[in-house]
Amino acid sequence: MMEPCSSADVQLQVILISKSFNHGTLQEGFMFSGWFRKRRRRRILSTPFPEDWNNILSRNVFHVSQLSRPQQARLRQLVQVFVAEKNWEGCGGLKMTDEVRITIAAQACLLVVGLPGNTWFDHILSILVYPQGYVAADRRTGPGGVVLEGKQARLGEAWYGGPVVLSWDDALAGGRRETPGSNLVLHEFAHQLDMLNGRVADGTPPLDSAEQLERWLSILGPEYDQLVQRCQHHHHGFIDCYGAESPAEFFAVLTEAFFERPGPIRLHHSDIYDVLQEFYQLDPADWPDHR
Ligand SMILES: [Zn+2]
Repeated sequence: MMEPCSSADVQLQVILISKSFNHGTLQEGFMFSGWFRKRRRRRILSTPFPEDWNNILSRNVFHVSQLSRPQQARLRQLVQVFVAEKNWEGCGGLKMTDEVRITIAAQACLLVVGLPGNTWFDHILSILVYPQGYVAADRRTGPGGVVLEGKQARLGEAWYGGPVVLSWDDALAGGRRETPGSNLVLHEFAHQLDMLNGRVADGTPPLDSAEQLERWLSILGPEYDQLVQRCQHHHHGFIDCYGAESPAEFFAVLTEAFFERPGPIRLHHSDIYDVLQEFYQLDPADWPDHR
């Protein structure tokens, strides 16, 4: 019998979901559910945030204590909705618990706590969680249309309209700030924000204006080229060389650095800090206990 959440299942879900997109069924589903979702969210938010969940936040998600009171209140609301609306599945023997759900939801929602509205992650249906890193079947199209297939060890992955797949060990370590400068959940959900702008991750999430887009491209374009150069010469800095893989990885890695090493990023890459601050509408370098 096939193990639940095997990579084959994940691939199948992605194929099915992208097919339903082609026929418009999922989009219609999103539109149809607008009024219904509003009513359901009001009901979700009418219940108080459980004390157990607060304990999980204090234990496992360092960032929450850094937010202002109003931001903390908004984050709790975002978490309540996120936990209730996603399909959560434990894979590879992981038992799904409130601890797993709250720890992941709070880090994902941290990305959007400064942003207006609550539609940013509506396109995500399922969160699949493995105990540790996992091996996934890899299939991608390379130069000249060659399809590369094989097995690849992963900590997480993100697909538009498909599941977000995460390793629990790494999600927890990121929340507890045990992995300086990196954070798996912020990374994968930054890809999800990126994909809102055209369904492919290209390093540019939806921005408010042509001027903001102009600033984004004129600052991050040259910074990306510099990172590629630096990493080719094995000069490591505050921005992880994984960001030199592609503009999409650059944005995800910058997001991790912005939240996890805001002090050095503001000091050494102030232009990058400014465009990310403008996008996320947060100022983590001013957090009381930032790094
Ligand atoms: Zn990535």
